[in-house]
Amino acid sequence: MENKICQSCSMPISSKEQLGTNKDGSINVDYCKYCFENGEFIDKVSMEEYIEMCSKYGSQAGMTNEEMKEHCIQIFPNLKRWKCTCTDECTSGYNPNCTCTNPECHCTEKE
Ligand SMILES: [Zn+2]
Ligand SMILES: [Zn+2]
Ligand SMILES: [Zn+2]
Repeated sequence: MENKICQSCSMPISSKEQLGTNKDGSINVDYCKYCFENGEFIDKVSMEEYIEMCSKYGSQAGMTNEEMKEHCIQIFPNLKRWKCTCTDECTSGYNPNCTCTNPECHCTEKE
């Protein structure tokens, strides 16, 4: 598990114990346990809100809270949870060609 970071909060993940869980109890390899549990995100917030929340924990990452916020602003938009590659086609709803991995976007699901 080298250079793995949580795809929601960017926390470095060095052991399996730090990973979140899927609905069926299996391990979710994308997100840490502080973000994702039982198949759901623990904090259902926008990216901006999550940056505010995470920037309170700068000391845990060896940074000031201001540095932590800067770090989050740079990194978060590229993480799987927040990155959106939707196209204009998606705005009308169902788009089977969409490759976006943002869990908030459900344009590849019918209904
Ligand atoms: Zn996380
Ligand atoms: Zn999207
Ligand atoms: Zn889409």
